[in-house]
Formats: sequence, structure tokens, C-alpha cells
Amino acid sequence: MSFLEYAPAPESQAILNLRSEYGLFIDGEFREGHGTPFASISPATEKHIATISTADAADVDAAVAAARRAYDRTWSRMSGADRGKYLFRIARLVQERSRELAVAESLDNGKPIKESRDVDVPLVAAWFFYYAGWADKLDHAGLGANPASLGVAAQVIPWNFPLLMLAWKIAPALAAGNTVVLKPAETTSLTALLFAEIVQQADLPPGVVNIITGAGATGVALVGHDDVNAVAFTGSTPVGRAIAKSVAGTNKKVTLELGGKAANIVFDDAPIDQAIEGIVNGIFFNQGHVCCAGSRLLVQESIHGEVVDRLKARLSTLRLGDPLDKNTDIGAINSSAQLDRIRALSDIGEAEGAERWTAECTIPENGFWFAPTIFTNVSTSHRIAQEEVFGPVLSVLTFRTPAEAIAKANNTPFGLSAGIWSDKGSRILAVADKLRAGVIWANTFNRFDPASPFGGYKESGYGREGGRHGIASYLTSGTPARPAVAAAVTKPKTVTKGATK
Ligand code: NAP
Ligand code: MG
Repeated sequence: MSFLEYAPAPESQAILNLRSEYGLFIDGEFREGHGTPFASISPATEKHIATISTADAADVDAAVAAARRAYDRTWSRMSGADRGKYLFRIARLVQERSRELAVAESLDNGKPIKESRDVDVPLVAAWFFYYAGWADKLDHAGLGANPASLGVAAQVIPWNFPLLMLAWKIAPALAAGNTVVLKPAETTSLTALLFAEIVQQADLPPGVVNIITGAGATGVALVGHDDVNAVAFTGSTPVGRAIAKSVAGTNKKVTLELGGKAANIVFDDAPIDQAIEGIVNGIFFNQGHVCCAGSRLLVQESIHGEVVDRLKARLSTLRLGDPLDKNTDIGAINSSAQLDRIRALSDIGEAEGAERWTAECTIPENGFWFAPTIFTNVSTSHRIAQEEVFGPVLSVLTFRTPAEAIAKANNTPFGLSAGIWSDKGSRILAVADKLRAGVIWANTFNRFDPASPFGGYKESGYGREGGRHGIASYLTSGTPARPAVAAAVTKPKTVTKGATK
């Protein structure tokens, strides 16, 4: 029970002007796909939102052909400065339509409006502004003597940050002079289709951006198409592995941003109030549907009891419910399939001997929901300590020495992100240096900035998105001129490692 009861504060949906049916966006226009259309629903209510086209192989062909024409005839011939102008225009249109985009995202994905409004959509605009600035500077950035675009990029993205992942893919690709065909995830196509409208509004030459909808089969046809030059995928490790196999032996340049199982390491000298907020943000932000989520809490043994008690008290104040309510902290799980996965792995956690605690909250009657859950007494061999749950579930482990914390943190097939909480800067740097994770946050978690490269080690994938490294992924002589460790950036607390491996 929370100490304060809040009156409902739902964000109005009146700003939305949705169509009942959406086609594919190919060559600057919407057209019907040849596959069987599918329904998009709100995961919070299971209500129908719109009917969406499926692209079959012929539609994928048409989209790639449109992208090729646009590449040959306009986009690759345009100056960087001119490409930048289009990207600035898109960024401003995203800002103008930000409220509408946030409402659509929360409706379709289930994430709380305060997150889509204050995190996702502002970052989408920031990504386009940032890469707009790169478009005319490619020759002067240590990206090789004459960095050249690749051609047509095939891009496939997941459902957890639909519009933000689209921005991470499309902004650098266009800035570098490529044209794109992007497939959003089946459960969250809506904001990609609104983005297609923004592309029209920005008057982008037809074919520079194509959005094709459909399920996994559409993704297979897209990444396997003979006439694409680059494949950029964000999603699960098994699909990433299948894609890596399918493009092996071709000249396609590939980036894979896959799963994670981040350790969030809390030392006994950490600022505890901040750490509790950071742990909560680390795993319960976006219902834990975050590839870099701090899903394994490694807490120093001497403060374990205090941290767990305070976490439980804090989680008991979180409000779960209507994603469009401005007070909501925990929204809906994105799909019934994902809910099943979260339930199954949590049950396995219990069966393997971990102790389960769930925040008391009222679960709405319809829709897909999972209350914030903590597992204690977790050992490194438990499946909930090894596998990505991709839900609001935290596994708590303990350690006694920094060496043990590092060994446990690295004891995972993944290596996407990590967090360190300590009062001592020297300890933070010493530990960060030994962690095999692409992004390491210190005394904060889940902070994103377009200037900071993001990506993983090991089964978390390869390639980097964001920053100069992110644009290098879309250029031929894109090998970074300077090696590996790029200290990022702005808010001083993020360190990015492993730009090359
Ligand atoms: P997924 O099942 O791998 O799907 C990702 C995308 O690939 C979707 O658009 C999906 O289409 C499509 N797809 C499915 N099978 C395909 C195939 N064989 N070939 C080509 N495309 C295919 O992953 P998800 O469940 O949507 O997303 C969750 C995963 O993404 C988590 O593991 C998470 O860690 C990871 N993720 C990583 C990052 C990162 O930056 N590293 C960021 C976000 C998420 P449909 O959905 O329409 O079937
Ligand atoms: Mg949906």
C-alpha cells in the first residue's frame, strides 16, 4: 500500500489521429501489403488499436528496390549538409509531435506515459539532432580518407523501445548517406508508421526511408535480401545468431545489438539512498523490458539486509496500472507471450530454491501485468541469474570482496552493461576496468546520450550504436581510427568500453 493515494491523471488520447488500417510505407507512400494483415492491440486493455499490413517477399523486394533507386538517384548524390537539413527537419517534427508520439507509444507498447514522454521521445529527437550534425563532417572525423556510404540498410528492431530503436537505426544510416528499409516488431508497429508520416511531412525524397511491417518472416526476407548492403538488428540473441549465420559469406556489413544480464554492483560505501533509486530504475524502468537492465543486483554482504529491506519498502510505493496515467510507474507487459516467459522463468527461480518476494499491488482485470518481484538467495548457477528475464524481476546475489564482485559480474554469456555504486572514484575505475561490459554506469543507471556509443561483448552482440562509432557502422572505411576505449561523454558517469573487441 502506498502512503498516499493518487487520483487518476490519465493523459488524453484526443491528440491521436490514428487510422483504422495501416499499409506499408514504400517509396514515400502507404500501400497495402500482400501478406495477411494483423491487429495491433493495447497490452494494458487488450483493445484493438489498428489493423496493420504484412509485407511478403514481393513487398520486401519492392521496398528494397525503392531504397536502391533513392540511393542511386538522390540520397548518395546529395551533399552531407543537405542530408543534415532533412535530419534536422525530422528532429523538429518529432519535437512538434512529441505528445502525440508519446501517447501512441504508451498505448501500443504499454510503457508508462511519463517514460515515453520524458525519456523515449526526447531521446528520439536528440538522436536525430545529433546525427544531423554529423552528416557534413564525415570527412573530418577519423573515419578514413574518403568514408563512403554502404547503400541500402536493412534494419530490424524489437518492441521494448519502438520509436527510440528506430531512431538509433535510421538517424546514423541516413546521416552517413544510406537509404533504409526498417521492420518494427509486430506488437509495436504503430509509432514507426507515425514516423513514416513524419518522413512525408519532412518531404524526404521517396524511398530514402521505407517502413515495412509484419512478423519474423518479414524480417527474414529483409535481412536475407540480396540487394541490401548493411544489416542492423536489435533483438534477442537466438535471432541475432540466426541472422549472423544467414549473412555469413555475403558482403553485408552487420551490427547486432542483443540481450544482456547486467550486474548492478553495490559496495558498502555506496550512497544508499541514491543506490536504491538506481537499482529500482535499473530493473523496473520500462517493466524491465530493457536489454541493458540491471537484472542482477550484486550487493556487498555486510549491507545485504539493509538494501533488501529498503528495496522492498520502495517497491511497495510503486504504482502499477494504466500506462496513460501520469502517476503510473509500472505499465503493462508488452504481450501475453512475454508475460508467459516472465512467469515461467520466475517459477523456475522458485523451484531452484531462490526466495521470491512480490510487491503487493492490484492487478487490472484485462491486459498483461507482472508485479515487481525480487529474488533473494540466488546463486550464480540459477537460471534467473543466467538468463534474460526481460521483465520486472530482480535477482539479488552477494559478494564480500571487489574480486568476487568482478568474477560474479563477468560470469555470464552476455556483456552489455553494468553498474557500480561506491563513494570511491578509484574503486569505480579499478572495477570498471575489469568488467566485460560495453557500457558501465557509475552511481547511476540506464542513462542514454546520443554521443555515447552503446553495444556489447560476447553474446550481447557486436558493433556500436551512438556517437562516432555508430556512424562508422554505416560507412565503408568505418574502422575507428583510434582504438577501443572511448571515454564517454556528457553526464560524467558513463564509461563506454570495447568499441573494438
Ligand atoms: P526478437 O524476437 O529477436 O525480435 C526482434 C525483431 O526481429 C522483431 O522485429 C522480430 O519480429 C524480428 N525477427 C524475429 N525473427 C527474425 C528472424 N529470424 N530474422 C529477422 N528478424 C526476425 O526479440 P524481441 O523479443 O522482440 O526483443 C527482446 C530482445 O531484444 C531481448 O533479448 C533484448 O535484450 C534485446 N534488445 C537488445 C537491445 C540492444 O541494444 N542490445 C535493445 C533492445 C532489445 P517480430 O517481433 O515481428 O516477430
Ligand atoms: Mg501493440
